[in-house]
Amino acid sequence: MQDDNPNKEMVIRGIAGSPGICIGKAYLVDKGGVEVLPKYDIAKDKLEAEKKRFKAAVKKAADELHQIIADTPEELREHAQILETHSVLLKDKMLYGRTIETIERELINAEWALKNVVSIIKPMFQNMNDAYLRDRAEDILHVSDRIFKHLVGAETVSIAKIDKRVILVAKDLSPAETSQIQLERIMGFVTDGGGRASHTSIIARSLEIPAVLGLEKATFTIKTDDIIIVDGNAGVVVINPSDNTLIEAERRKEEFEARRDAYARSSHLPAETEDGESLSVMGNIELPEEVVSVLDKGGDGIGLYRTEFLYMSKSAFPTEDELFEHYKDVIDVMPNKPVTIRTLDINGDKAVAYATEDDEVNPVLGLRAIRYCLTKPEVFKTQLRAILRAAYHGQVRILFPMISRIDEIRETKRILKEVEASLAKDGIPYEKDVQIGIMIEVPSAAIMADAMAKEVDFFSIGTNDLIQYTMAIDRGNRQVAHLYNPLHPAVIHLIKQVADAAKRNNIPVSMCGEMAGEPLCLPILLGMGLKELSTNSQAIPVVKNSIRTLNMKGCRDFVTKVLTLTTIQEIENLVNDTYGDLLNNKHDLWE
Ligand code: PEP
Ligand code: MG
Repeated sequence: MQDDNPNKEMVIRGIAGSPGICIGKAYLVDKGGVEVLPKYDIAKDKLEAEKKRFKAAVKKAADELHQIIADTPEELREHAQILETHSVLLKDKMLYGRTIETIERELINAEWALKNVVSIIKPMFQNMNDAYLRDRAEDILHVSDRIFKHLVGAETVSIAKIDKRVILVAKDLSPAETSQIQLERIMGFVTDGGGRASHTSIIARSLEIPAVLGLEKATFTIKTDDIIIVDGNAGVVVINPSDNTLIEAERRKEEFEARRDAYARSSHLPAETEDGESLSVMGNIELPEEVVSVLDKGGDGIGLYRTEFLYMSKSAFPTEDELFEHYKDVIDVMPNKPVTIRTLDINGDKAVAYATEDDEVNPVLGLRAIRYCLTKPEVFKTQLRAILRAAYHGQVRILFPMISRIDEIRETKRILKEVEASLAKDGIPYEKDVQIGIMIEVPSAAIMADAMAKEVDFFSIGTNDLIQYTMAIDRGNRQVAHLYNPLHPAVIHLIKQVADAAKRNNIPVSMCGEMAGEPLCLPILLGMGLKELSTNSQAIPVVKNSIRTLNMKGCRDFVTKVLTLTTIQEIENLVNDTYGDLLNNKHDLWE
């Protein structure tokens, strides 16, 4: 964007990813990237110089890797193994030798030669019989990316290395990168891509840092060291704010924090409606440490423990004992409260490099979650053994993600029985009577809820995916983010169908998708009979507070009206007219 005065205040709008307001200096991460690779011919007399340029980039990549390895604290050394492998690969004959040969033979630039070599050797590794060698295909990509970055001169910035208090500005942050954010350094972040239900935004909410996503051109418009205001409530970023705007932002920040503190003061009181119905409001966690925050915020238990993040920070599958320790850490903090451990939901947007053999064109519709686990029984059984062992020490429920067919539940139960038998045979204590539930997050499961209810002890509705799959809207895609809406009548009808099926079959139904943390959606959920809600820890006090203002009978009558409506707009209008004053605390005043 051109402007005569580069320091003029500018307001850009995106998606409200995580609530809160922060004001500080911007810090651009990985601007430029390596997406556009140049291709050009090299004159014969420039050949040596081109080879030298390639060798220099490899050397820089090697130095960088050695530095990262040297900086890795002793207790994390085992995780640095993968980097050792990468540094060996840098000088691998196939990668290094062939790239030099290609530059010489074809007289083309180093970037293009490297790209060609990678496109030949990656499939060679992928097709190898040995699983270890197959996994090296991904490493080749990581290593070549590192060399590319040095060739094109883009600086890679390790998030973990940032050493001042800043606001991150990035094209996109993966869920794994977001979970590396150190709270004492990063005040908030803004990204060009992403949607409100993306895992990146979910993690920002768990970390309680303001975030605005889907800004499209933030990395073009914002420069490192620009002062910016991030309003994660309104989804707005102000660049180079004037003094007046800064004063206004400070005022709003204080107001937001005061309101949040006021909610927090009553968050340990029960969530009881005006007419005396009690609900349970639990927390979703990604990492064991977050359990403390759920407890602090008055959570009645863990409604969703997303276990895949323990697999994402590693270079190989975690062992049964490691998993057991993590699960037990969580249970020990919540000894008398339910802890719902969801089995591995990798792939989709949470790809784990060492666990993915083939690139999938559509990972979200691919070998994700239970589908992945059923094709990898050894990985699945290791996790189930760890969960059953941990369950012996507390009130654990197991939740299976992305069920779309009844056969998957039956197969899963068969594997669970095998795992129980193996633990019994090994004489290891485990919970014999663990409750099992399924996520209802694929439309086929919602439609078949009545039959599925006969197979399990409870349902948990995952609206983040249910909306994605019902509406055919990629939850992480900025371009369709405006279409992603929990108040679509199809979504509401599906939830109703699931709630009714659970009731008929006498099993509890909860909701652990982000919809459960949206105050304006609560009258609908309560009115449909949902008694247990689970949300990011930040939203627990707000949800509890909102429930206290609601009347159950009123919510039931309200749902009857909502179910007659056919457009999002009509439903939103009715919700706002009926409950807007009571529940809406988001105000966008940046016009
Ligand atoms: C969901 O899909 O609603 C859910 C809670 O699971 P996740 O966000 O981890 O996919
Ligand atoms: Mg899901």
